[in-house]
Amino acid sequence: MNYTNAFTKDFLLTDDILSIGQQAKERKRLNPSTIDATIGALLDDSGKLLAFQSVEETLENLDSRKVRAYPPVDGGKPFKSALKHWVFQDALPALETHFKMEVLATPGASGALSNILSNYVTKGDLVVLPDIFWSNYAAIIHATGASYVTYPMFLNQGFNLEGFKKTTQDIFEKTQKVIVLLNDPCQNPTGYSLSNDELKGIISHLDRLAKDHPVVLIYDIAYLDYADIVYKDTRKRFLNFTEVKSDLLITIAFSASKTFGIYGYRGGGIVALSKSQDVISEFSRVSIYKARSTWSCPPTEPIFLLNTLVEDATLNQNFRTELDEVRNLLQKRAKAFIGEAKAIGLNHYPYVSGFFVTIPVKEPKVVFERLKEKDIFVVPLSNAIRVALAAITEKEIIGLPTKIKQEIEKA
Ligand code: PLP
Repeated sequence: MNYTNAFTKDFLLTDDILSIGQQAKERKRLNPSTIDATIGALLDDSGKLLAFQSVEETLENLDSRKVRAYPPVDGGKPFKSALKHWVFQDALPALETHFKMEVLATPGASGALSNILSNYVTKGDLVVLPDIFWSNYAAIIHATGASYVTYPMFLNQGFNLEGFKKTTQDIFEKTQKVIVLLNDPCQNPTGYSLSNDELKGIISHLDRLAKDHPVVLIYDIAYLDYADIVYKDTRKRFLNFTEVKSDLLITIAFSASKTFGIYGYRGGGIVALSKSQDVISEFSRVSIYKARSTWSCPPTEPIFLLNTLVEDATLNQNFRTELDEVRNLLQKRAKAFIGEAKAIGLNHYPYVSGFFVTIPVKEPKVVFERLKEKDIFVVPLSNAIRVALAAITEKEIIGLPTKIKQEIEKA
């Protein structure tokens, strides 16, 4: 007897990252020197979940009567304005002049991605992804009935713009619509950030396609606030959008988990932009309907946190100072890992900044098991393993690339 519908027969989380993380935690209880490089959360140098003081204080001071009340389904007017200000900062005026916009509060960037995908793809559709991506994308896409196609992400140590164009063009011809999912900056799992020219190239290609058929860019900026070091002003990247002439729909997925280090609070949002009022009105209608019919209304703490941080200039400044320190910490860890990897000839995908570095390997599951025997936990991906620099200390990093290389060579 089938209790669930036929469609759900493929719903099985096998190598989910959170379950691998659970294994690592259990091992750490037995052996405290276990290296747990699995989870996409920032830990400080004492191995504890990193806390931003300004965030802690704001959360502690929230008015409990407001937090306990039902919020508006979309998060409310102050939140919609605060999210746009936080995400775009100096780029906001130019974007507001160029586009119509809509905002929806969601439980995490995961909620944002699921809301967007469930409304814009269905059975028979193919979402365009790079060949190296956050594995949960596959589950979110499959839950809509759609599937995905990939293009090789890198060419000569940079983004493979030609490969991207070819795959999107093929899908455009095959399905008369294009849905692209892009995680940038600090891509999970590689740590790659698109250069200005690469992003410009992507946008102008999608803009050209959108003249004839519907095109949606889902721009997952979960790690945006960890990217300033190389591309000094992160928000400048959004100005590339102002070149758009078509009705292209750009949906941006924001993660309060990553920006504020509040993973369990489940905060996030979507900012949708299009030159067409019809496209934005439709987004508004379907996104709010889907939200109301799934999670009903969003968690309130992240909403009040963001509203307060954007409104209160001192708090805002304090938080930015803390973010700078954390970015430096991450870069120090990355330097240590990449420096050693280079010295011993351990190959990795091009890293710019962010939580992870990823190493191409032929037999990821074998390497994962071998490292596990040595009480080192990484995440096996397809043809690669991912090391979460965010979750390990500089001390733990020293010698780690060498151990990884040894196990790869044995495999
Ligand atoms: N997007 C990427 C690339 C991620 O790595 C994650 C979490 O790891 C998310 C989105 C979802 O984050 P959350 O739902 O916690 O905001």
